[in-house]
Amino acid sequence: MYNFSAGPATLPHEVVLKAQAELLSFKDSGMSVMEISHRSDLYTTMASEAEQDLRDLMQIPDNYEVLFLQGGATQMFYTLPLNFANQAHRVGYINTGHWSERAEEEARYVSGLTVEEVGSSADQHFTELVHQVTLNGDYDFIHLTTNNTIEGTMYRDLPELDGRTLVADLSSNFLGQIYNVNDFGIIYAGAQKNSGIAGLTVAIVRKDLLEQVPDLPAMLSFSKQAAKHSALNTPPVFAIYMAGLVFKWIKEQGGVAAMQKRNEAKAQLLYEFLDSSNLFRNPVVSADRSTMNIPFVTGDADLDALCVQEATKQGLMSLKGHKSVGGLRASLYNAMTIDGVQALVKFLGEFEKEHGG
Ligand code: PLP
Repeated sequence: MYNFSAGPATLPHEVVLKAQAELLSFKDSGMSVMEISHRSDLYTTMASEAEQDLRDLMQIPDNYEVLFLQGGATQMFYTLPLNFANQAHRVGYINTGHWSERAEEEARYVSGLTVEEVGSSADQHFTELVHQVTLNGDYDFIHLTTNNTIEGTMYRDLPELDGRTLVADLSSNFLGQIYNVNDFGIIYAGAQKNSGIAGLTVAIVRKDLLEQVPDLPAMLSFSKQAAKHSALNTPPVFAIYMAGLVFKWIKEQGGVAAMQKRNEAKAQLLYEFLDSSNLFRNPVVSADRSTMNIPFVTGDADLDALCVQEATKQGLMSLKGHKSVGGLRASLYNAMTIDGVQALVKFLGEFEKEHGG
């Protein structure tokens, strides 16, 4: 069985087996990790190790805080402008698809804030990215989505922002593609795609930005969360534990560079098939194609549905495209093996033979 879900998504088998092996007795404590106090040494050691492993993987400089939060990326859509848009009271959003639009919509709930769209590929139906933005004057930050999970586009090179602070949603290619942390003011990502399970949202925040945060209710305040090392209230212990196991697994595989290389090889296999197919088509311009999420269609909604159904029977799971774009989508996150992609390509080739093209 291969799971192509966009998230929650497939986990590395080794990680699940490790979690299973120590589920009843974490570090020989006789207690499950789900049962330990977040004020215990067992927890603090585990959480600091997870943080250190993440710092090593992304080469996060010391002037960045790493936060383990809750509420998903969606909560960040609101809390980020609430915390970090208090000088110019103006933010710019680069609209490259569903999730960047959602981020922009939520920012509009912050009172007194001017939310501007500084670039959009809506007219191209999001089949390409925005590489040049129109900026004039001061912005507290510019927001972008590095990987558009639904539309299947991914930034390799970031747009030029003339020194403005970049805030980015990396949810769907976090640790799957190398980025330089110094290029960002803030990085955030829900864990349930490339770094574990739902319940944990990672935020990497440049420390000088934290100094500008106004007085806010504790759970919404990045500076209060940072002051309490992400344990202001009960943290999502199990989700942090799972992310920690994933970070160790990535290290064992050779780090983010090795992940990226493998992701490129997997994606190439599927794109090569799609580009030579007479039945299936990926609509994204080739330079902007994602290595993580690959949408494709036959052009006939009934045939798409049949393809998903037949694939499921063969153990190729969760290939249905997002409802906003239809068709099929294969998510090839870090934990998807090359064998999984080969099995998918083989199946699609057989489906094509049988159903025309
Ligand atoms: N941003 C991106 C790029 C996503 O792919 C998703 C979920 O699929 C979200 C945000 C929403 O994440 P969450 O469910 O953690 O709020």
